[in-house]
Amino acid sequence: MTDRLAELAANLATVRSRIAAACEAAGRDPAEVTLIAVTKTFGVADVLLLSQLGVTDIGENRDAEAAPKAAACAAAGVTVRWHFVGQLQVNKAARVVAYADMVHSVDRIRLAEALGRRAGGAGRVVDCLVQVSLDDTEPDGAARSPAGAGSRGGADPAEVPAVAAAIAAQPSLRLAGVMGIAPLGRPARPAYARLREMAELVRAAHPAARVMSAGMSADMGEAIAEGATHVRIGTALLGGRRPFVR
Ligand SMILES: *Cc1c(COP(=O)(O)O)cnc(C)c1O
Repeated sequence: MTDRLAELAANLATVRSRIAAACEAAGRDPAEVTLIAVTKTFGVADVLLLSQLGVTDIGENRDAEAAPKAAACAAAGVTVRWHFVGQLQVNKAARVVAYADMVHSVDRIRLAEALGRRAGGAGRVVDCLVQVSLDDTEPDGAARSPAGAGSRGGADPAEVPAVAAAIAAQPSLRLAGVMGIAPLGRPARPAYARLREMAELVRAAHPAARVMSAGMSADMGEAIAEGATHVRIGTALLGGRRPFVR
């Protein structure tokens, strides 16, 4: 085993046991929670090692980085599910639907329409999540002024049903659920409780939309307690990120 493979294996074991402990505390089955390894800023070699260790789902947040990694994995004959988790411009939709299996960051109708058109053109069907802005969640659940500096993206909760409907209306997209990023510097649990409400609202109208993508290295336990089905883990698996792309 190379040093890096051993390091990733150890980190993976730790993350899996954190997921198992959070599931046990919440009375949930760990099989309900999909681990997405967020490999942004790390090279494709790490993606291949993670795949070797049994990780099946890989997350990236920038097309310029994700596209060549996806191509390199395909060339190596390695099949993983690619999750696009970053903010997305309409003019990048065509590129992203070429490799993404699930887009987590659909937060406006125009983006849903562009993704649908481009996926159709590429002959693909892509799972999509409505990203919900959780920036206005106070610890007591009360609303704050709308997202400003430090916003992590996402549709305002009031817009979520319309964005969900726009995804569902596209024949080449599958509305799979919702995604949220907890606000920085405030407790995650109330934000994820809010996301769970939005997940239930979307599911009431679209019963097949069962995904709740929530939880990162620091707060996967809170997210699992609120029903996360997909956790997006970077640092705890791969280590600290350098401030530039390798
Ligand atoms: C980077 C990133 C993650 C992973 O964050 P860590 O704190 O490193 O686990 C999860 N979700 C999104 C949207 C990200 O951009």
